Amino acid sequence: MNQLENLYREVIMEHYKHPRNKGLIADEAYIKIRHKNPSCGDDVTIQTLIEGHTIRDCRFEGHGCSICCASASVLTETMIGKNVDEARVLTDQYLRMVSGVSYDTDQDLGEAEVCSGVRQFPARIKCASISWQAFIKTLEGGAKNDE
Ligand code: ZN
Repeated sequence: MNQLENLYREVIMEHYKHPRNKGLIADEAYIKIRHKNPSCGDDVTIQTLIEGHTIRDCRFEGHGCSICCASASVLTETMIGKNVDEARVLTDQYLRMVSGVSYDTDQDLGEAEVCSGVRQFPARIKCASISWQAFIKTLEGGAKNDE
């Protein structure tokens, strides 16, 4: 394992132990989507508050493996304050990154790059993806409080 991979692993463990923006808020203005990954026992709910075209808040709740929980925590930090179009691009780019599909590097994924190592472990790609897939659905807004 090289130094960069070591650093990435440390950041993932740090988010796993000290998750950011964890805990849902009882507010109808938030759009909430839950996704599960039965093969690993991951179960994540993402909650997003959009005002105009800006993501004012992004939160998560759930449980699962370290990759799943850390990627949800990183997601919330990445998205708060972004506009919706930018958030869509970043999510698409992130999902390509963890799947090992080539992607546009013009946009800075920031700390979310720590999940890039997942592409070497096909069984874990879903762990790293479900919170971001749930997030993109909250932007679509249609299915409110989808279980
Ligand atoms: Zn998992």
